[in-house]
Amino acid sequence: MHRRIRTLAVAVCALAATGAAVTAPDQAAAAHPGLPHTGFESSGGARWTTQPEEWAFLTAVDRSSDRVSLRTIGTTAQGRPLQLVRIGGDRPTANTMLLICSQHGDEPSGREACLTTVRDFARARDAATRRFLDRTTVLVIPTANPDGRAAGTRGNADGMDVNRDHIALRTAEGRAVAAVIRDSRPDVVYDLHEYNTTPRYYEKDLLALWPRNLNTSPDVRREAHTLSEQYVRPGAEEAGYSSGVYGIWTDPVTGDPVRQVAGDGQERILRNTAGVKHSVGLLVETRVDALTDAELADPAVNNRRRVHSQLAALKGAFAFAGERRGRIEAATTSARLAGFADRGPVWTGGADNDPAAPDETIQDPPCGYRLTAAQYTEFQDELALHGVVSRPTPDGAFVPLRQSLRALVPLLLDERAAYRLTTGSPITRC
Ligand SMILES: [Zn+2]
Repeated sequence: MHRRIRTLAVAVCALAATGAAVTAPDQAAAAHPGLPHTGFESSGGARWTTQPEEWAFLTAVDRSSDRVSLRTIGTTAQGRPLQLVRIGGDRPTANTMLLICSQHGDEPSGREACLTTVRDFARARDAATRRFLDRTTVLVIPTANPDGRAAGTRGNADGMDVNRDHIALRTAEGRAVAAVIRDSRPDVVYDLHEYNTTPRYYEKDLLALWPRNLNTSPDVRREAHTLSEQYVRPGAEEAGYSSGVYGIWTDPVTGDPVRQVAGDGQERILRNTAGVKHSVGLLVETRVDALTDAELADPAVNNRRRVHSQLAALKGAFAFAGERRGRIEAATTSARLAGFADRGPVWTGGADNDPAAPDETIQDPPCGYRLTAAQYTEFQDELALHGVVSRPTPDGAFVPLRQSLRALVPLLLDERAAYRLTTGSPITRC
């Protein structure tokens, strides 16, 4: 199962050495004086990049490369911009890969990895990376929760967990991500996080997990599983890190799974929302706790390892997107078309490792839901942000299941769905 990751995204890691010894970013910065650098790099990993530094950095990268464009896609409650970076992908047939970085504000390592990835892709001159970027549009939301990052909190300024908001869309952050997914229909959605260990049972350097939600098309889930198990985890291990499956405690001696503590099928979590929306979703979590005495003694060493392990995993993800381009495209395209056939059950619970109970299975879904005028007024924006098609009627609206995002419709409107927007009236004869 373990396979070698090709060096497709070599440029992405050009500023960070592979292997156990992680080059201090300030050394890398000194070696490349003409390049824009993050605050993290300039400080040798002693501190995280501030947001003013991030804006200046991205502006400089944008100016220095015709491969990159920068756009504001929303504004947080405290007035900070939500920014989207677009890199490469000039061909109309290019696959699209979306990176969502640090939607939990107190998990900063993913963000640092995303920022330097943007720069390194922007500046890469080697043929393999150019070819990759010619055929892949890489979209990056480097700071998906700017207010939370500024405060060092998991949630946003209102204390809301952005990664539980991808169905309800109550937060500016969740709405911005939904609009990007709607408009760019990414083949891959890669979500970067960090976690705290539980000694002996749950302490791998890097954990990954695919969409467990049962409404994910089997082909899309297979690709996501491949991304996790054959690219991202081996990518981390090749760089000297241990890896595992997110949410699963393992026996310290045998390595066998002993207990599941997280990582269920909830559709409101981005990893799962991505699957329901026909993208190859992946959650990646890197270990916060110090690994060595050197990390304990010097937070900068700890911080550099946290970022470097994210970069190693990303390298695997880019290799996946490059090597399996055709299979990924086939899986996401067929999943996007399947809803138009309007066939098969929809699941409001369960997971790929936890069969849905009978009351979590809508065996024979209605052909649509009717919304009252008041309901439609209240939720038409959310339906539109999701990219769900609805038809206004004289007394409200009708939302058909026969559409690309078929399974999402009951998850938003059925009385059995735990995170629904509202309860629509099921229509069984259309
Ligand atoms: Zn997180």
